[in-house]
Amino acid sequence: MSNLESRPDEIRCGSTAVAGPVQVVEPREVPLGGPRAMTVRRTLPTHDRTMVGAWCFADHYGGPGDRADGASMDLPPHPHTGLQTVTWLFAGTVEHRDSIGSVQAVRPGELNLMTSGGGICHSEVATSAEPLHGAQLWVALPESARHGARDFEHYVTQPVSLDGGELRVFIGELAGQQSPARTYTPLLGAELTIEPGAELALAVDTDFEHGVLVDLGVVELNGTRLGRADLGCVGVGRDSLTLKAVGTEPVRLLILGGEPLNEELVMWWNFVGRSHAEIEQFREDWQQQTERFGKVVGYVGEPRWLPAPVLPTVQMKPRRNPPLH
Ligand code: MN
Repeated sequence: MSNLESRPDEIRCGSTAVAGPVQVVEPREVPLGGPRAMTVRRTLPTHDRTMVGAWCFADHYGGPGDRADGASMDLPPHPHTGLQTVTWLFAGTVEHRDSIGSVQAVRPGELNLMTSGGGICHSEVATSAEPLHGAQLWVALPESARHGARDFEHYVTQPVSLDGGELRVFIGELAGQQSPARTYTPLLGAELTIEPGAELALAVDTDFEHGVLVDLGVVELNGTRLGRADLGCVGVGRDSLTLKAVGTEPVRLLILGGEPLNEELVMWWNFVGRSHAEIEQFREDWQQQTERFGKVVGYVGEPRWLPAPVLPTVQMKPRRNPPLH
């Protein structure tokens, strides 16, 4: 997915509160302009939390009671740098085409993982009548990988039953389940459903930070209550996460974890870089359609590629990620 804010800021403040040991990042609604006029619920980045591990972008969209306009998503080729895009759907189907030559439909329970390396472009088109419901996530590449080769992986997860729930691991390892998807820093991504009233304690890597992004229902993370599209964050040094479905509805959520990425990022539009000058160069290269990004073959819509917005007039500065406690 493309960040289609018509005037993307470097970072804007979210509504963020620290509640005991869990930092609760409440989503802010972001209306995306351009070819996909839908509103997303964004929890990364916000003013007080720019990353969880190397996860640096989290949009939640669609679902019960949401406007059904996501079904018409038709995103022309657009660029990315310095990141991996993780497409995870709860409903609907999206066809992905990229400048490696990949053509891949992604459905619920399936991972589309695109690695930009130094530059890639892709198109995304909804191909089902059902409205889209899912999460668009980005992972920042570390310095050692951010100028590397493009890559694309598709992985169909298998659900595994737990006592009181069901788990799909799409990145990394949790509860004995492992994904083969390649990442460049130690990372975890999983979907968990919890039966009403059930409580699960999941053993996790003590070197990881963790974020819990709620899709459906109300859950308590280590005793702190989270609702729809909230991101509950905890720092390193914990060996388990306790998740309890409160209320009468089942819970569905994503668990995002990883070792802290101690690098300062500049994020603008669809680019992750390290300085204003670098972002300016990425933008120029895209506007000039240089080899940095390659070409998508087979996209039939208009425009043939998505032009970049105008750069902010102020110099964008790298953002340090506040430590999680
Ligand atoms: Mn994209």
